[in-house]
Amino acid sequence: MKGYIGRILSIDLSSGEWKAETVGDDVYEKFLSGVGLGAWYLYQNIPAGADPMGPENILGFTSGLLTGTGTVMTGRWMAMCKSPLTGGWGDSNCGGNLAPAIKQCGYDAIFIKGQSKKPVYIFIDNKGPVIKDASAYWGLDTVEAEERLIKDNWNKKKPSVAVIGPASEKLSLISGISNDGGRFAARSGVGAVMGSKGLKALVLAGTKAVTCENPEAIKILTKEYARKVRKSNAPGIMGGWAMAVMGKLLGSMKSVVPIDGIMTVMLLKKWGTVMNNTMAIQNGDAPLKNWSGSDKDYKGKYSSSLNPDKFIAREERKYHCSSCIVGCGGICSIKDIRDGKYSHTHKPEYETAMCFGGLLMSKDTDSIFYANEICNRSGLDSISAGGVIAFAIECYENGILTKEDTGGLELTWGNSDSIISLLEKIAAREEGIGALLADGVKRAAEKIGKGSERFAVHAGGQELPMHDPKIDPMLGAVYSADPTPGRHTTSSGVYYTTSALWEKISWLPRFRMYPKAKEYINHDEVSLKNVAYTSYKMLIDGTGSCYYAMLMGVNHYKIFDYLNHATGWNLSADEYIEIGKRMQNMRQLFNIKQGVDPASFIMHARATGEEPLISGHNEGLKLDIQALAESYRRAWGWDEITAVPTSETLEKFGLKELVVVGGETAGSEREVTNG
Ligand code: SF4
Repeated sequence: MKGYIGRILSIDLSSGEWKAETVGDDVYEKFLSGVGLGAWYLYQNIPAGADPMGPENILGFTSGLLTGTGTVMTGRWMAMCKSPLTGGWGDSNCGGNLAPAIKQCGYDAIFIKGQSKKPVYIFIDNKGPVIKDASAYWGLDTVEAEERLIKDNWNKKKPSVAVIGPASEKLSLISGISNDGGRFAARSGVGAVMGSKGLKALVLAGTKAVTCENPEAIKILTKEYARKVRKSNAPGIMGGWAMAVMGKLLGSMKSVVPIDGIMTVMLLKKWGTVMNNTMAIQNGDAPLKNWSGSDKDYKGKYSSSLNPDKFIAREERKYHCSSCIVGCGGICSIKDIRDGKYSHTHKPEYETAMCFGGLLMSKDTDSIFYANEICNRSGLDSISAGGVIAFAIECYENGILTKEDTGGLELTWGNSDSIISLLEKIAAREEGIGALLADGVKRAAEKIGKGSERFAVHAGGQELPMHDPKIDPMLGAVYSADPTPGRHTTSSGVYYTTSALWEKISWLPRFRMYPKAKEYINHDEVSLKNVAYTSYKMLIDGTGSCYYAMLMGVNHYKIFDYLNHATGWNLSADEYIEIGKRMQNMRQLFNIKQGVDPASFIMHARATGEEPLISGHNEGLKLDIQALAESYRRAWGWDEITAVPTSETLEKFGLKELVVVGGETAGSEREVTNG
């Protein structure tokens, strides 16, 4: 009756055995569900030094504590594992309808270890899991495989399906997991881990109810939230051009202007995340030309190809994840640039639009939609795929790769035909250039040598997202020192300004403008804001909430109240943030146990400004990344150099015993109840 189910399912694909376990209340009280429960479990059950692509790695699928309780915007699930890209903690967040389906099977989380010798999928309903032969689906793209698996397993209820595509089957380290026809858990190489297990899909058909302490109070909060969202609409005359103007205006300011989070919702409702496209080009947020170009290089027809109006012009209907009122997604019609036939696809996100637009110097909107479709169907992470193609183009332009190496492709900036052909080769892991690039920029540069690492933009092996930290130093610290490096959703100064956290958390400095770029002075007080926001993000990822609800801030999306109504715990915001801190420490402990070198996470010189831009908005900007990373670690209570949580930190969060005990469960009651 506390929102969570209190049970987890673990399946060993090597032996075919499974067990359902009851998890004690104390675990949820310390870690919530979702990413926290996953970190608690994976820390204890993945041995130090485990091969990420071997049987010892565990792939987790978790729902959220608030999912299914009537709390709005809680349709997000998470995949997690030891990342084959970074060698440390890997997670990825995704929407659609899978999160409630996990709980309806009677579990908060499903953990899969081992490896099957032949392709399998796991079907779960109210009676428990069954491992089934997946030979008939292996090789199919994500959309086709999902459709067939639904058809073949639809009994009383339409099942929800998480599925991998051919790129993951071929173990591309930059592949992810799809559900609902193209919602995507893209990052950390989670698809490669699923492929390494011989697991094509998870098919969920449970119908169990989710209960919580005070559903009536939750209903009232949700009604209040829905009222606000429904009446927040961008003015009709506000066209996509306005976003470029807004970007120019915001980019000219020395500090981030704090805006009410409801404004974000207005823009998301109209355009989805592509609302950011032209704004990001103008305010220095968007990296262009593989992080070496600027708004001066990408203007006129280039920039207008990313006008958000061009993206919603193809939208046939809005798409909402489960329990979502905002509906930032869209289902669009696209023309296949090979055969001219039309089909339906999810609208590209900002990250995809910028990766296949500005990063590659393309002005071909059609090719962005098509690239998005190839990524979704094959199972490639569009951020990493765009990043590795940008890397290849720069290698080609500098004579490091030749036409012979590229299989005849003329890899030049903005050459859509070559970009699409190369993407298809990567997705198929085609011998030669496809296989060379299929594991991301770090591996490719290691194989190519010849100074190519200069063009391999990543942090810890993870390609960087489409946000330039040179104008947002808090983001730079997170890219370089968080347990999952190179991730834009963890925390940033810009996001912090919409959160209103300072109104709820007693120890936060009173809100001031967040100075950008040159005006920014690194000090530990700013790192405390990063700690607060990241902890808030942990609560979002522990509850199954949507990131865009989070961006609305705590005055609109009342996460602390929702948690109290669901669980009956009656904790303060300060106490919840301490839970978020514990969750983050658990992720960090995972990296320490796996022997990750924190120095290896420091982002690429183009992102720090060590290799400065020579024109445009961010000309000459440079971050003192070592100082930022050290300050970030100190603020968490970690050693500033080794990133190991201090013994006081472990003591404070009750983690000391867990670390000492290692493989055994500490501080919780677990009992095997089935299997
Ligand atoms: S706002 Fe967008 S990502 Fe978030 S739950 Fe709604 S549709 Fe999904």
